Amino acid sequence: MREVVTRFAPSPTGRLHLGHAYSALLAHDFARDRGGAFLLRIEDIDPKRARPEHLDGIIEDLNWLGLEYDGEILYQSERLPLYSEALERLKAMDLLYPCFCTRSAIAAEIAASATAPQGPDGPLYPGTCRRLGDPERSKRLAGEPHAWRLDIVSASRLAGPLYWKDGDTEVQAEAERFGDVVLARKDAPTSYHLAVTVDDSAQRVTDVVRGRDLFATTDVHRLLQALLGLPTPHYHHHPLVLDGEGRRLAKRDGAPSLADLRASGVDPAALAADLRAGRLPAGYSAAAL
Ligand code: GLU
Repeated sequence: MREVVTRFAPSPTGRLHLGHAYSALLAHDFARDRGGAFLLRIEDIDPKRARPEHLDGIIEDLNWLGLEYDGEILYQSERLPLYSEALERLKAMDLLYPCFCTRSAIAAEIAASATAPQGPDGPLYPGTCRRLGDPERSKRLAGEPHAWRLDIVSASRLAGPLYWKDGDTEVQAEAERFGDVVLARKDAPTSYHLAVTVDDSAQRVTDVVRGRDLFATTDVHRLLQALLGLPTPHYHHHPLVLDGEGRRLAKRDGAPSLADLRASGVDPAALAADLRAGRLPAGYSAAAL
């Protein structure tokens, strides 16, 4: 029988809150109930937002909840050459193009267009740099900061129809809905999509247990798996924890961190038991997105 491997993959941009606790517990229990391994991966590729001081906090919070992870912690910031290698493979397949656009130029172009198609994450990139001619592209590549985008139509055509499983449900991937996603950012040699795909494979993750907010995004990960010849894990997207106003938990809206709960005397064993039973503290609810 295959060994089950799950992971918890927080970005160290703040202290963990109840939503993280819920996700970590589900991923942990999914593995432990099947005699499998539960891994911890720190998604710290964002040089502006990842803060080393939050790392200790994450480990402290998991310990407080009674969750033990297996093996070494994997830090994405230490794996940049691996993501570059995957990027080079996709470049060699002629599926990527450099994008010189700034956020404000993209926003202006979208605002000026009569029909700006929307994707699951907002308006689609209008394809400005995809249409650049070779001479201009080469000239600008030499001197201008650039991201790398996936030509999603060519990539999807090359891969053909793709499917993935959420629990027992088969889902047909429709990555085109996202437009030409960024696979390497101007300020980092990868993006979330590429790093998560490479690492789920490298860590031999068999079952990805994560929030429902990433359900649609899985189509992009499935496409990258097909292009890079990587295995497809099973996915289990869980409902999100919402606050009293129906919003996803966020520090900026005043969601208490697990550290705050601990400081106010919350018993972690009771909290973990409640979350495992699907009981959320007063004022919170869980909802599929
Ligand atoms: N790092 C992501 C987050 O904190 C999770 C990514 C994933 O589970 O695939 O939201």
